[in-house]
Amino acid sequence: MTGAHTFAFPATELASLIECGISLAAWGPMSPVKDGENRARLFRSRGIAPDSAVALSQIHSRIVRVAESAAPFSDYPEGDGVITANDSLVPTVTVADCMPIWLLDPVGRWFGVLHSGWRGTGILRTAVELAADEWGAKPENLRVILGPHIRSCCYTVDSERADYFRRAFGESCVALDPEREAAGDRWPWRLSLAEANRNLALSLGLLPGHVHDSGECTACNPLYGSNRREGAETFTRMLAWIRWR
Ligand SMILES: [Zn+2]
Repeated sequence: MTGAHTFAFPATELASLIECGISLAAWGPMSPVKDGENRARLFRSRGIAPDSAVALSQIHSRIVRVAESAAPFSDYPEGDGVITANDSLVPTVTVADCMPIWLLDPVGRWFGVLHSGWRGTGILRTAVELAADEWGAKPENLRVILGPHIRSCCYTVDSERADYFRRAFGESCVALDPEREAAGDRWPWRLSLAEANRNLALSLGLLPGHVHDSGECTACNPLYGSNRREGAETFTRMLAWIRWR
């Protein structure tokens, strides 16, 4: 059983050394608290030592934690992103329509993964600022991959949320769907979390060529878990991880 998709950072000599992965829905839910057996099966299949994985209690925040070792994470502190300079650790988050953002700075030698849904959009800023404080990292060295998430093909929102995103992350991340507007739909706007994060990344000083997009929609592709497609009661939280091979 393969059951996972992996993504690589293009155009860096470290690309083959860093694995960005996401478990497909067939592996089942991956909550660190409730689904330890599923996580253990996945880790075994990937050759990941379970005690190297770092997980959080996710709260749709913009809190990012620096991991120096795994021990302080044994009781899953609250937060939505983990960054580290320790090559032996495997930062993880769970996602199902929210975006995993994988991070690699091949110059500063730090890496991590973020959980970025609509409420948490902006968490990339926290990670960039934290890495600057911790390691003197520079945004122009950072490479990011915007992972599978619910795309504007499937993600419709109301005017209030569209206004918020337009003001916070730029005009280009929302578009009015004329058919939905004509039908009087309460959610007539299409929201692109990828565009919001691309705008944010460039405003933080990342280089355009260092912002990569997986291009996949979790709500369109049934191989992925999706809150909106599967329903809020039964959706499948997938595991997103990053590690040195
Ligand atoms: Zn879609």
